[in-house]
Amino acid sequence: MKIKPAHVKVTQFSAVSLQNDGSQLEVYAIGHGAAQANTHTSFIAVLGKESLLIDCGYNVPASFTRFGINPASISNFFITHAHGDHIGGLDRMLIDNRYFRGNVPGAKATLWAPRTWAQDLWNNSLSGGLSSHDSLRSSKDEGGDDLKTLPSNRWYDILLPTEDSSFADRDIYQFKKGSFKIEAFRTMHTPAVASSWQESAWSTGVLINDLIWISGDTRFDAGLIKSYAPRCKVMIHDASPFPNDPVHAPFDSLVTLPVDAKSKMFLTHLPNSFDGEDTQKLVRTKGFWGLALTGTKFSAML
Ligand SMILES: [Zn+2]
Ligand SMILES: [Zn+2]
Repeated sequence: MKIKPAHVKVTQFSAVSLQNDGSQLEVYAIGHGAAQANTHTSFIAVLGKESLLIDCGYNVPASFTRFGINPASISNFFITHAHGDHIGGLDRMLIDNRYFRGNVPGAKATLWAPRTWAQDLWNNSLSGGLSSHDSLRSSKDEGGDDLKTLPSNRWYDILLPTEDSSFADRDIYQFKKGSFKIEAFRTMHTPAVASSWQESAWSTGVLINDLIWISGDTRFDAGLIKSYAPRCKVMIHDASPFPNDPVHAPFDSLVTLPVDAKSKMFLTHLPNSFDGEDTQKLVRTKGFWGLALTGTKFSAML
């Protein structure tokens, strides 16, 4: 029988509480699917009075409905990269934050992002739907200048990293808000021809309060996993059943990891064909902790 760390509990949830007493980090898997799946990999992290949505693909608003969460009740957003299965539902969240947070006048959403990535996300993705929004009430901005389009700061503030540095040869970005301590690290996801994380398009994973690590979308990157494994209690990793998957981590490659990494690892970002009971059995047989299926809650004592 495997011994699991006593201070991490893994349970099933049917509803999400967006606050806790601050003694533990709670991470709710509200979706576990790959790009074409019925749900999209997304997490709500809760610590004290703060909650943070990590990724918001086009099926994530449906997960909010499933778990009875009001989209306007979450105002902190961390986006790992610009693929539709990670950002496609974000404009819905921002619209609800802007117009339907009735009891929080003037409150705005907060995007946690380094400045350059925040600019790319607005210019290349969000501005298309949000800058020409019909509900613009004034044609003047606060300075009296003519305003034909809504700028990003009418939708959200940006929480910049408190520190940029590197760990294990990665660029990393530290974010702090309330009791949250988020370390974002660059990953190697797309394009397939990129031979390093430096050459890859922007994509990141996160380490939350040195407890729960989420890979984000990445190819198999053994060095990255081995460097973070000693620093966290739970690893949630992108996994693909396809041995030659050029942009995600093939299951067959993850199997080759050392026991100390696999035994704290849950797999996610799964196609519909790879999230059933057979897969559950298979991953446990191969030494992983399990699958981070939709409805799985991770509670880690601080
Ligand atoms: Zn992706
Ligand atoms: Zn993805």
